[in-house]
Amino acid sequence: MAVSLARRIEGLSFEQAFIVLEKVKRLQGAGRDVIRLEMGEPDYPTPSHVVEAGCRALRQGFTRYTPVAGIPELRDAIASDVARSHGVHVDPSRVVVTPGAKPMIFFSVLALVEPGDEVVIPAPAFPVYASVVRFAGGRPVFVPLRADKDFALDLDRVEDAVSERTRLVILNSPSNPTGAVLERGETAALAGILQDRPRVLVLSDEIYGRLSDEGRVASMLAEDAMADRTILVDGFSKAYSMTGWRLGYGVLPDALADAVGLLQVNSNSCANAAAQWAGLEALTASQDCVVEMRTELRARRRLLVDGLNRIDGISCSDPGAGFFAFPSVEGLAREAEELADLLLHSVGVACLPGTAFNPYGEGHLRLSCTASRERIGQALDRIGEAVRGPR
Ligand code: PLP
Repeated sequence: MAVSLARRIEGLSFEQAFIVLEKVKRLQGAGRDVIRLEMGEPDYPTPSHVVEAGCRALRQGFTRYTPVAGIPELRDAIASDVARSHGVHVDPSRVVVTPGAKPMIFFSVLALVEPGDEVVIPAPAFPVYASVVRFAGGRPVFVPLRADKDFALDLDRVEDAVSERTRLVILNSPSNPTGAVLERGETAALAGILQDRPRVLVLSDEIYGRLSDEGRVASMLAEDAMADRTILVDGFSKAYSMTGWRLGYGVLPDALADAVGLLQVNSNSCANAAAQWAGLEALTASQDCVVEMRTELRARRRLLVDGLNRIDGISCSDPGAGFFAFPSVEGLAREAEELADLLLHSVGVACLPGTAFNPYGEGHLRLSCTASRERIGQALDRIGEAVRGPR
């Protein structure tokens, strides 16, 4: 007999990147050479000093539960890091460490969004936002980002989208999938729009911030009018190549930090102990590894964007950050999903269709700069070959 599930599960959607990952693994298992540009995951290993800190923690016996919100050393280091990068003092009591940034997004939405509440999401966007909003009974209100404007936030449209029912605005800079970055003038203008709407909070997902060309991005947390209504979400997965360690964090308004702590104690208890010590090392040791990776990612992105622009039917702007290219493939007269499938199966290039990122992604592909320049060069040849078809 089929098990019937609780209705709330219907709100959740699966993340397409993980579906494509399964397909890639199957093809690779069958001996196919696949160039993997589908995951938002660095191809770099975790820096060795960070691995060593994690191993040392295990050897020293840090194998037990930690405090729910994280070890004090890491919460202090995160508060200092936020002060350094955003010029904002935050009390470490407002920092909660979670197993990845995703639980922080999930818990924040669960703690804030009532059924019927609206959440404004510029789109295309990381699909998890809308999925967890629906799970909470809320309604995602998408604000389109336009390719011909380099996917910059249209503040008038955001203002129009905010209503009496709005509870949250979700920002992601640099953006997955578009790579667009919010400028200081934009965060200030948005703070001006939201300052007289005390019910509205902002969730600022800055997980790619350290990989931006400047190594930091403008944040709503630094806007006085919104400082106590901003949830800063960040983590170690991307900048420190720690996706599998599962370590992220949030800097939250006081009451929300307590609520997220409640959600955590009822689900994960705490983040992995050794990962937290490794994360402490990542944040406090030399940042040369991050600088090296972002320099290489920038070179790869240039190569990828230039190469894509040389293929007839594809055009790609470079909003300038992170490790994604989000080209328009409208000139190829195929749906994005069909094209992504064709590239995977016919020439072994894995990428994601823009439709994986909520509405307004049709006509685009997302390619991550997560392979060497040599492999990106091969991928470009293969894509050119696939879209030209047999001669
Ligand atoms: N936010 C964005 C925009 C992402 O792209 C991702 C991962 O792909 C995450 C958050 C979650 O990262 P993690 O849970 O690995 O820290």
